Amino acid sequence: MSKINIADYIENTEVEGPGKRFALWVQGCFRRCPGCCNPHYLDFVPRTIVESEQICTLIEDSKNKYGIEGVTLLGGEPMLQARGLSETAKFCREIGLSVMTFTGYTLEELSAENLPYADELLQYTDLLVDGAFDQTKIEEKRNWVGSTNQRFYFLTDFYKQGIEYDERFSHGIELRFRPDGIVQLNGFPLQSEIEQINSIHN
Ligand code: SF4
Repeated sequence: MSKINIADYIENTEVEGPGKRFALWVQGCFRRCPGCCNPHYLDFVPRTIVESEQICTLIEDSKNKYGIEGVTLLGGEPMLQARGLSETAKFCREIGLSVMTFTGYTLEELSAENLPYADELLQYTDLLVDGAFDQTKIEEKRNWVGSTNQRFYFLTDFYKQGIEYDERFSHGIELRFRPDGIVQLNGFPLQSEIEQINSIHN
């Protein structure tokens, strides 16, 4: 089992991919995309270091507790921690959960960079979203992605093409008031929703 440097996780979310999902954010990304919604997950600093086995236990608990249908891997950059995440993704497949992976690399870049264990992570990924967020190309139609340059790859039959347009899984955000006093926000609102939120605050 390998270690993963985790930035955060949510046991059960409905805005980070199809259906109920366990979402896992890893720490560290080389890029600095303007408008990145997780700027505090970019530095390569130790946050919470865990064995992939520990994450697998949390995921299995979440499956039993909430009936999640899958896991979503986000960042930071998941492909830079592909060894531990591929072990996690393999476990997910073994217990019947889908795996959705976001990466700032395009599929072509991934193949050129030859990042360690990236192929293994792709092997256990059902739904891949590639490409870095581009704030000049805000997405208004597809679910779960921030910009129109990001592409969906259906690497297995787990999900049907077109699910990214399915209105039952609309864009949205979730707010959580955690016991440690931190308010946690996740998901990706439409531009019109961002303007609505801003107008409430102004
Ligand atoms: S690749 Fe993703 S996580 Fe990295 S800076 Fe860009 S938007 Fe943020």
